[in-house]
Amino acid sequence: ITVTSECPELAEPYLRQVLDTAGLAVEYVRAERNTLYRRGADGEEIPVSDFAGGYGSVLLGHNHPEIVTRARELLTAQTPVHAQFSRHPYANHLAAALNRVIHRELGTDEPYFAIFGNSGAEAVEAAVKHAELDRGMRISALLEEADGRLTAARSAVADGATVPAEVCARLGVPATEGFASVEREIRRRNEKSAASPPLFLALEGGFHGKLVGSVQLTHNEGYRLPFKSLAAQARFVPNGDADHLRKIHAAERRTLLAADVVDGRITVTERELPVFCAFLVEPVQGEGGVHPLTAAFAGEIQRFCADIDCPVIVDEIQSGMGRTGALLASSRVGLRGDYYTLAKTLGGGIAKTSVMLVREARYRKEFEIVHSSTFAKDSFSCHIALTVLDLLERDGGRAYRRAEERGEALRAVLDSVHADFPDVVKEVRGRGLMLGLEFHDRSGASSAELRELAGSGLFGYFLAGHLLRRHRVRTFPTASAVNTLRFEPSLQVSDAELEQLRAGLREVCALLRKEAVAELLPS
Ligand code: PMP
Repeated sequence: ITVTSECPELAEPYLRQVLDTAGLAVEYVRAERNTLYRRGADGEEIPVSDFAGGYGSVLLGHNHPEIVTRARELLTAQTPVHAQFSRHPYANHLAAALNRVIHRELGTDEPYFAIFGNSGAEAVEAAVKHAELDRGMRISALLEEADGRLTAARSAVADGATVPAEVCARLGVPATEGFASVEREIRRRNEKSAASPPLFLALEGGFHGKLVGSVQLTHNEGYRLPFKSLAAQARFVPNGDADHLRKIHAAERRTLLAADVVDGRITVTERELPVFCAFLVEPVQGEGGVHPLTAAFAGEIQRFCADIDCPVIVDEIQSGMGRTGALLASSRVGLRGDYYTLAKTLGGGIAKTSVMLVREARYRKEFEIVHSSTFAKDSFSCHIALTVLDLLERDGGRAYRRAEERGEALRAVLDSVHADFPDVVKEVRGRGLMLGLEFHDRSGASSAELRELAGSGLFGYFLAGHLLRRHRVRTFPTASAVNTLRFEPSLQVSDAELEQLRAGLREVCALLRKEAVAELLPS
C-alpha cells in the first residue's frame, strides 16, 4: 500500500485540528527514557522532555531496555500469543505476583482473583459486571430467604398464629383477607424492589473510563450525558462530603420485607436490599485535576460501604503500579478495596493490558464463564507485566523509593513556582509522580484576550502548547479540569529535565502575570 502525504485525513482529523490551534499536534518519531523526539525542519531529532508520560502508562520510561529485550525474546521464541481456552500459567504467575505485593501492602492474606482485560476502562467494566453479578446473586438469596419465611409464616397462620390489624394497615391491605393479602403484598413489594436498577456511587471529579458503562461513572458531563441512556447510573458524591453520601443513601435505599412469627403473631420486618452495586474511587483523582483522597474520607467511605454491604472498587489505573511509591496508592491512605483495577504501567509502556482483582470473600467463580475477551490474558502482555513487576520489586523496591524521591524533587520545583507566583498559581497537589499544578481562573482578567483564553475551555492546552514550543516540555491539562496541568513523568526524569520544566513554568507564569497573551499563543 502506498501512502502519500496527499492521502485524505480520516483518523480523527477534527481532534488533530483542535490540538493544532494550541500548537500540540506534533508527531513524535522516537522515544527513550523520559524523552520523546520530534523531527526538526532539517530532519534532525529534537528532544522533548515528557511530563505527560502516556498519561500514566510509562512510569518506567519509554522503551525500557529490559522490557524491550523481553518483548524481543518472546517474539523470537515464537511464543504463542493467542491461545484462548488453554492453560495460562503466565497469567497465574502474574496474579500470584500481584497478590504477593498487595498482601504486603495491605497486611492481609486474603487472595484476590484476577480477571484480565485490555484497557483501563475494560478493567473497570469487568469489575462493574462482576459486582452486578454478585449483587444479583445476593438479591436472589435474599428473595429465597424471604420466600422461605413467608411459607413458614403461612403454615404458622394455618396452625393458629394471628395476623394483627396493624400489619395489614401498614401494608395497606384489607384485614378481612387475613394472611393471603399480606403475603401477596409482601411478594409484590419485594419483586418491585428487587427489579429496581442498580445504582453506582462515585466521586465528583472522578474518571473511570469512556466505554458505554464506565463513562456513566465518569463525572465529566461532556463525556457522560450524551450516553446517559445506554447504561446504569451513578450518584456523584463531593470529595470529602460524608453527609452527602448518607443523604444519597436515604433517598435511594430500598428494602425487602419478610414475615416472621413472634409470640404467635405475624410481624413484618425490613432489611436492606443491595441497590448500590459498587462505590468507585480513585486514591488520587487523575483526570479530575489531581486530587488525592484523604485518609479521613477514605475511612468514611469504607465504613459507609461496610454498613450497607456495598463493594468498594478502587480504581488504581492511573495512581497504581508504583507511581506514588507503592503498588497501590490506596494502601497509603488505609483504603481496602473489594476490587482493584490496574492498567497503564502494567503493560510497561509496550503491551496493552489491564486487570481487575476481586477479593475472595466477594468472588463469584461463575463470572469466569460469562466474561472474556479475545485479546485478554495473552501471553505477551502477561510476560511483559511480570517483567514490570520484577522491575518495581527488585532490590527491595528501589523503584518505589525512586518514585518517591523523584516525586519530591518534582514537587519542590512546582512548589517553588507556586511560591514565586502565588497570584498565578492556585495550588500544587498530588502524590509521588502524580502531581498537578492548578492555575487561578483568569476569566476576570483585565486583558480581553486573557479573559477569552480563560473561557475557551482550552486554557491549559494553550499553556501546554507554549511549554512544548518554547521549552521542549510536554505536559497536558487533566481531562476534566483544564486549569490544572499534570506532571506524571517516568522514574527516569533527570534533574536537568526538572530544571527545564522550572524555567518553562516560570516563563509561563511571568507571561500570565503580565497578561501577555500574544506571546503565549502559537504565531
Ligand atoms: N480509570 C482511571 C483512573 C483513568 O485515569 C483512566 C484513563 N485515564 C481510565 C480509568 C481509563 O483507562 P483507559 O484509557 O485505558 O480505558
